[in-house]
Amino acid sequence: MTRRVVLGAGVVGLTTALALQRSGASVTLIDRLAPGSGTSSGNAGIIATSSVHPEALPGLLSSLPSMLLKPDGAVRLRPSFLLKRLPWLLRFLAQARPARAEAASVATSALSKPALRFWDGLLQEVGLPSPFVRRGLLYAYGTPQGFAAALRDNAYRERRTIPFEILSGAEARALEPDLAPSLAGAIYAPEAAHHPWPQTLSDQLFERFLARGGRFHRTSVRAVARSVKGASVQLEGQTLAADQLFICAGAYSATFTGQLGWPVPLVTERGYHILHPEPGIALQRTVLFPELGFAATPMAEGLRLAGTVELASLEAAPDWRRAQGLSRQAARVLPQLQGPGVKPWLGFRPSLPDSLPVLGAAPDAPNQLFFAFGHGHLGLTQAAVSATSLAALAEGERPPLDLHPYRVNRPFPLF
Ligand SMILES: Cc1cc2nc3c(=O)[nH]c(=O)nc-3n(C[C@H](O)[C@H](O)[C@H](O)COP(=O)(O)OP(=O)(O)OC[C@H]3O[C@@H](n4cnc5c(N)ncnc54)[C@H](O)[C@@H]3O)c2cc1C
Repeated sequence: MTRRVVLGAGVVGLTTALALQRSGASVTLIDRLAPGSGTSSGNAGIIATSSVHPEALPGLLSSLPSMLLKPDGAVRLRPSFLLKRLPWLLRFLAQARPARAEAASVATSALSKPALRFWDGLLQEVGLPSPFVRRGLLYAYGTPQGFAAALRDNAYRERRTIPFEILSGAEARALEPDLAPSLAGAIYAPEAAHHPWPQTLSDQLFERFLARGGRFHRTSVRAVARSVKGASVQLEGQTLAADQLFICAGAYSATFTGQLGWPVPLVTERGYHILHPEPGIALQRTVLFPELGFAATPMAEGLRLAGTVELASLEAAPDWRRAQGLSRQAARVLPQLQGPGVKPWLGFRPSLPDSLPVLGAAPDAPNQLFFAFGHGHLGLTQAAVSATSLAALAEGERPPLDLHPYRVNRPFPLF
């Protein structure tokens, strides 16, 4: 029987491991943490079927300086990142060219637009009910300039035939009365959804994985290497042999792909959350504030404010002021919000310069080495689509979507 080893048990590794069990194969999952308890636990919970823009859009270069200068701004760049990761930053900025942004939008949409259908299919197959709250997603804008820019960028949604409604501030408040009266306008995406506590989703996926005969090693992977028959995985104290190895280690994946001969420009866009356990307001759905860079999601344990981007290394110390800053920002757009925010949290979005994941097989070992990582801002959304596609590839079947845009050896031009 084919021995399949999945490195990383975040939401991408968990869904991949489950999809790989379809054929009855023996699947081993490895993680140093409890499954789903890293970055996959603390996100905003959105199944963002309507988020089809790459992060770098035309006009980025002119808006970036003002974004970086605001103390509680949506994006922060640590100087050490600039020194070490300048090539990544230049590649990211180069992606804002209109033709590249358009290509990235098409490829993002291929993964995001059908996300709920793939989630439902995977969950049904393993005997789990669909847990998503299907009340859409509201993108809310505080300033006329921000709203005007959003309407311009909404053309990407139009071209990808994503359903949406343009709302005035008053119409948005009719949907969500807790929003500030000063709201300039909003875009409502009725087909998006959210999960009310992402850790529960991972717990359920893991339980099904074990029930279907999966094995889990809770340990650190020291290194991976190619072998004649596939790959070897060096753990603390033992080495595992794999006929097929799947790298799903989120923001930590580059070390392993490098060891397998496929270096990738992967960094982390760090993000924070804070929880308001008794918010004093009752949102019906996730409200995203794109100008402020965060989302407010009604969750099982309160209102979670999650988002912002901090460009810093995996090892850099957390800056908890960024998490506290989320409560301050939220008070402007949700004036009845009650505090204080608790349990500040830091997570690591795995990000490539074109905002697309790496998804597919190693070109020189197409039956043995597989990659699924780098889902950036959309890993929860895209996990089931990715997993289903990769499992098909591993079985020698035709994947449900064309994986060419996500290949490990795609170019990342500097200009
Ligand atoms: C603030 C914030 C809000 C977000 N909101 C959303 C949202 O609303 N919707 C959405 O779709 N996405 C969202 N995201 C993005 C999403 O959370 C990520 O894309 C997703 O969690 C990535 O999943 P993953 O499985 O690839 O990585 P991870 O969850 O990071 O899992 C990787 C695993 O690999 C393990 N690992 C790494 N190295 C080793 C090693 N050497 N040995 C053993 N194990 C190892 C880690 O322990 C980890 O468990 C958000 C992210 C952040 C930070």
